[in-house]
Amino acid sequence: MIYGAIEAGGTKMVCAIGTADGQLLSEATFATKEPAETTREMVAFFQEKKIKALGIGSFGPVDLNPASPTYGHLLETPKLAWRYFDFAGTLQRALAVPVGIDTDVNAACLGEMIYGCAQGLKNVIYLTVGTGIGAGVAVDGKLLHGMLHPEAGHILLEPHPEDSYPGNCPYHKRCLEGMASGPAIAERWGAKAVDLHDQPKVWEIESYYIGQALVNYILVLSPEKIILGGGVMKQTQLFPLVRRQVARLINGYLKTKELKDLDNYIVPNSLKDRQGILGALELAKRVC
Ligand SMILES: [Zn+2]
Repeated sequence: MIYGAIEAGGTKMVCAIGTADGQLLSEATFATKEPAETTREMVAFFQEKKIKALGIGSFGPVDLNPASPTYGHLLETPKLAWRYFDFAGTLQRALAVPVGIDTDVNAACLGEMIYGCAQGLKNVIYLTVGTGIGAGVAVDGKLLHGMLHPEAGHILLEPHPEDSYPGNCPYHKRCLEGMASGPAIAERWGAKAVDLHDQPKVWEIESYYIGQALVNYILVLSPEKIILGGGVMKQTQLFPLVRRQVARLINGYLKTKELKDLDNYIVPNSLKDRQGILGALELAKRVC
């Protein structure tokens, strides 16, 4: 049985087909242009491949309520051409197969739970820190949606005492994304994250914000593991700094086996950036 998967991003669409046990057989990447043109290219890739179902991990926000008349549509996305586009429905009609859709970060979280470092766990957070910041959340084995889906990249934070950067989120200024995304780092320091590798202050401030966010997630959601991905987290020197901030802010209040072993609690993604597409493949399996 062959399933289709799409990791849908604001700049590119990664399409793949794979088997039920997570073997990817064929893959293609298309630039994210207008929805009509991009979906035409994706449909051409999947046609003739006899997929049983399609799973999409999409940029958002996206309507994930099956009872909603706009289920599977994109909502107020900054990608204006895609705003209110019926993403799942268009592909479902063109390919005549069931379509499962979730956020890109929920798909990545699911990929790590099925194939990666969170196998066997039911309460997991996947945070991506890159051009934007977003979190996928699983609670009791189910991907969390609620009224829409978590937007945990926009939680509000206390500024670092030495940081005068005003933040760049158009909605909140100094939320996590406004202070710690790749573009926020670049604007604050006048250089890209990758070129600031040897600047300790950059990473101290970055970890101060990510650490605050993780502590808030830990206190509310009680995850068993937190996985960090995205372009900024390729700066692996961040991991010990983030763990140190988490320990400092928890300040002994919680005592669990997970928090005693932060090296295995706050970890990098484990699937070589295949977590999103493998999660989308799992979404396809689950919709059958
Ligand atoms: Zn924000």
